[in-house]
Amino acid sequence: MKGEEDELLPMEGAEGRPESGPVATVLLDGPGDLQFDYLVPEGLVEGLGPGSRVLCPLQQRRQPGTVLVVHEEAPEAGRRLKALISRYDERPALPGDLLRLARWVSEYYCAPLETVVRAMLPGSVRTDRHAVKTRRMVELVRVPGEEEMAVMTRRAPRQAEAVKALGEMGGRGPAVEHGAAVVKALVAAGWVVVSEEEVERDPHGGDTFVATQPLELNEGQRESLEAILEAVANPGEAKPLLLHGVTGSGKTEVYLQAAQAVLDAGKSVLVLVPEISLTPQTVDRFKSRFATMTGRIAVLHSHMSQGERFDEWQKIRRGRARIVIGARSAVFAPLTDLGLILVDEEHENSYKQESPPRYQARDVAVVRAAQTPCAIVLGSATPALESWYNAQRGKYRLLTMGERADSAGLPLIRVIDMRLEKRRAGPKGTPPIISERLRLAMDQRLQRAEQTILFINRRGFAASVQCLACGHVVKCAHCSVPMTLHHESQRLVCHVCGFQKLPPKKCPECADPGILLAGYGTERVHHTLTTVFPKARTARVDTDAMQQKHTLRDTLQQFKTGKIDILVGTQMIAKGLHFPNVTLVGVLNADLTLHTPDFRAAERTFSLLTQVAGRAGRGSLRGEVIVQTYSPHLPAILHARHHDFTGFSEQELEMRKVFSYPPYTHAALLTCKSPNQRMAEFTLETLHRRIVENAPEGLVVGDPAPSPLEKSHDQYRFQILLRAPRTSLITRHVQPILKGTTFPQEVVAVFDVDPVSLS
Ligand code: ADP
Ligand code: ZN
Repeated sequence: MKGEEDELLPMEGAEGRPESGPVATVLLDGPGDLQFDYLVPEGLVEGLGPGSRVLCPLQQRRQPGTVLVVHEEAPEAGRRLKALISRYDERPALPGDLLRLARWVSEYYCAPLETVVRAMLPGSVRTDRHAVKTRRMVELVRVPGEEEMAVMTRRAPRQAEAVKALGEMGGRGPAVEHGAAVVKALVAAGWVVVSEEEVERDPHGGDTFVATQPLELNEGQRESLEAILEAVANPGEAKPLLLHGVTGSGKTEVYLQAAQAVLDAGKSVLVLVPEISLTPQTVDRFKSRFATMTGRIAVLHSHMSQGERFDEWQKIRRGRARIVIGARSAVFAPLTDLGLILVDEEHENSYKQESPPRYQARDVAVVRAAQTPCAIVLGSATPALESWYNAQRGKYRLLTMGERADSAGLPLIRVIDMRLEKRRAGPKGTPPIISERLRLAMDQRLQRAEQTILFINRRGFAASVQCLACGHVVKCAHCSVPMTLHHESQRLVCHVCGFQKLPPKKCPECADPGILLAGYGTERVHHTLTTVFPKARTARVDTDAMQQKHTLRDTLQQFKTGKIDILVGTQMIAKGLHFPNVTLVGVLNADLTLHTPDFRAAERTFSLLTQVAGRAGRGSLRGEVIVQTYSPHLPAILHARHHDFTGFSEQELEMRKVFSYPPYTHAALLTCKSPNQRMAEFTLETLHRRIVENAPEGLVVGDPAPSPLEKSHDQYRFQILLRAPRTSLITRHVQPILKGTTFPQEVVAVFDVDPVSLS
């Protein structure tokens, strides 16, 4: 498309246009991935390069864009180009290495390059529109002598105090600390001057951290650290490292010491975590260890304001931040001299972005490390089978830490067969939410002033509302899922789209008043505790209860300081938290993740159980885990019970191999969505026919079928799963077909490479 803008842009009237000079190829913001060449006027040449943000003429409008290439030579004679209008930044917003990474992401995930660049640059950076935050500073310009000081102390004690404080702070400090009247008086008397200073917003404002000292490493940790530092020293040759360490084996300590070494060598460190709000402790541990340089740590997360994000981003781009900690999108942080990337909990699904560009941050991190080159460590107690398989076949180097660092021993895991509990309850009865065995164990903890975590992977009160007479289940009007009863708000809520309505008093189908609550969620469990353990101090942690920004932090803090005995929660409490006094973890219904229509269901269950179990007995006390399940015989449960990741992965990989599922193949999911059911189905069938025609050898094309979540947000969904030994075999065949298809107006096609969710 390059150079074709002559047809789009009538050149008449473009006066004052330079006739020669360098030419920039610009990717214009907006849909269509439009790329045009523009002349670079002399005033804009200095420092302009790939990644610069510029304003371009486009027909009669002005459109921002990103420079992809600058050609030094003047355009060929006869080629008439328009000139760039202006520039947004002094130096390229996007460094060259990230532009290269953007191209890879765009190609691999079949996403428009523009979408990828958009994901890389925060909105405020793209247009350089932001509010600089300033604060008033006072500076001591005349230091009072002893006598003067004595007088001041007598006549104006608060002024004297302020002067003393300023002196101790090196003569300069924020005005707010002294009160407006005091500052005014000091200015009038000529002791101080006031000025405005640009400040960075600190998203963790107010928190203070006490520097922690490195711990003496045990043997497993030392070996892992050595391997990492070897890779840091020879990034070009080193393989990505997969650090498989059981929960509590001290992976974080290894990360911290590796980071220190990299910083000492003058390089920077990128730390990816699944979700900042779910892993506050990891962030805090980094902030504490590097407490003397918190100004050089940047934190990127999704709850930041535009201004905060802008500040953190600039801090990184200007090379001030040497450690960046962030979730998924931080993989694109513009760090210079990158020495090491750490991907914590690398198996987590949240590394996959579920909107365009649908990239997997862990995999992008591996590619970024190879391109830079720098060292990369993927760490987990339950590695993704993709990563595990890569280690097995020598693509990654495996580092193992099989022992807990605090020598506490792994917790004892007991499995309660809920089928027996059900039989015990009789044909009409329902088994208790908390089995007798679990109740006794909890009671024991209360007596000993130890703490318990109860885990249930569902929010709300009742999983569904069902009519006893006709069996009717109340479903969402916009999605094909049962609605969940929320007791506190007295509403039925759809957990897919959020739609709410009042619970019916009688069955909407047959008008029978006998409507029944089936299943349970966090809310009901929490409610049950008030009758089972009326004296216990309890709290609930899920997205409903944690709507406010700091509630999660506060609740966890209260739990940590022993003000709560029993914590009930969803996976929000499953991750990376560390509470020494928790000696019991109850998993109330392990089957919830097990019976989902997804080939990764067993892997997810195993990993979730292991992570949750890892919350028990992290201090000097031995932990116990009680797992309630209706499927005690399934491998995910059996192996989790014995902390046997290797055994589980062997069995699971065997299954994946037989059925040609990832990691033995790469997959892509093609979905057609439409408010019109027929239309969605028909369009997908047409695509299916085209894909099957001339399909390359090795490409396995699944049959078109309704998605497991057949209707969502009023959209009907049909899908095909594609598999092949290499991703490119799928994308090179399918992408041209998608591009060459004119979709009916009401149909949207979604193409998801390496999908983590098949619903
Ligand atoms: P992981 O990240 O693998 O779950 P952590 O880094 O949280 O493990 O370590 C678990 C606990 O063990 C923490 O309390 C940590 O301070 C402690 N720990 C880690 N390394 C050591 C060590 N070498 N000696 C003593 N304690 C350690
Ligand atoms: Zn819904």
